[in-house]
Amino acid sequence: MKNTDIEVIAQVKELLTNQKCKIAIVPHENPDGDAIGSAIGFAEVLAEFGHQVNIISPTEYPDFLKWFSSELKILVYSTDKKAAEEVLKQSDVLICVDFNEAKRAGKLEKSILKFANPKILVDHHPYPSDFCNYTISETGYSSTAELIFDVLNSIGLGGFFSKKSAEALYTGILTDTGSFSHGTSNPNTFQVVSELMKFDIAVEKIQSGVYHNFSADRMKLLGYCLNNKMVVYPELRTALISISKQELLDYNFKTGDTEGFVNFPLSIANIVFSTIFIEKDGIIKASFRSKGNFHVNHIARDHFNGGGHRNAAGGEIKLTLNEAIQKFTQLLPDYKHQLLETEI
Ligand code: 5GP
Ligand code: MN
Repeated sequence: MKNTDIEVIAQVKELLTNQKCKIAIVPHENPDGDAIGSAIGFAEVLAEFGHQVNIISPTEYPDFLKWFSSELKILVYSTDKKAAEEVLKQSDVLICVDFNEAKRAGKLEKSILKFANPKILVDHHPYPSDFCNYTISETGYSSTAELIFDVLNSIGLGGFFSKKSAEALYTGILTDTGSFSHGTSNPNTFQVVSELMKFDIAVEKIQSGVYHNFSADRMKLLGYCLNNKMVVYPELRTALISISKQELLDYNFKTGDTEGFVNFPLSIANIVFSTIFIEKDGIIKASFRSKGNFHVNHIARDHFNGGGHRNAAGGEIKLTLNEAIQKFTQLLPDYKHQLLETEI
């Protein structure tokens, strides 16, 4: 953990190991595998140690993240606001995982900001804002889950791992590295995975749970997006998929159904930049992916009120779908040079 002061680790250790207390863990809204895996993995270890732990997700999360053997309940703030607020009120410590600014917790933002007891952030996104008392922000990590493994060992809780926590942290690493295919995997990633595998985790079951768990509607929606909604700009090495609210309804959309769709166009030879625009209530949710040294987080930050990593970023904008597409196609030529220079 290169960025984190040993003093911060010592303080977090004191907070989490000196006495048993009530802890709330919050991932970002629309949580992905790393956010949910990190929350469950962290929670399982803290519960094993003897804390009373609750996980509160700002929004609903996909079915392909609901097969964990962990029996910890995840409260969903958007559907169970009262219970979630009550849990926060009772908590002695709040831990935020896998996001770098309070805004990323969506409707939970205000409650996080006004939470009066100690707050800890454990995250791997660049440019963290200063909204927690203790910030463990390490951009060199493939995933927050990988970082949590090291944090737990550093604060002396390494003896409290179990199959349940190992499985959850492995899922976070698996999903954020694109099954170990992105450039973010590093020797430590595989070292952590090797430690997690000692808990006899079922890697095949996890792979199936996350990736081979489509509904027929979701598979058809993917086919429709690729066949009818993908536009390729070969001269700009870019592809764009856009999907309207009505089209989602046509395919009985459920939370998480479009997760990962943005990656598919990167399988086209010579494409280095892929974008998906999804129409939600009054806004367009944008996801960006790239290969090599093309920085999609800069595009997300500068044009779509978002952020993220170099090769995976997102944002949202108050426009119609057509306006968003127009904005995108107008700004693309500004990146032509960078797109053509990108080495893969
Ligand atoms: P996804 O495209 O899967 O929604 O998100 C990919 C990554 O982009 C996330 O891990 C997160 O870092 C970042 N990201 C996605 N949406 C937003 C957003 O609205 N704001 C910010 N700041 N980052 C986002
Ligand atoms: Mn992550």
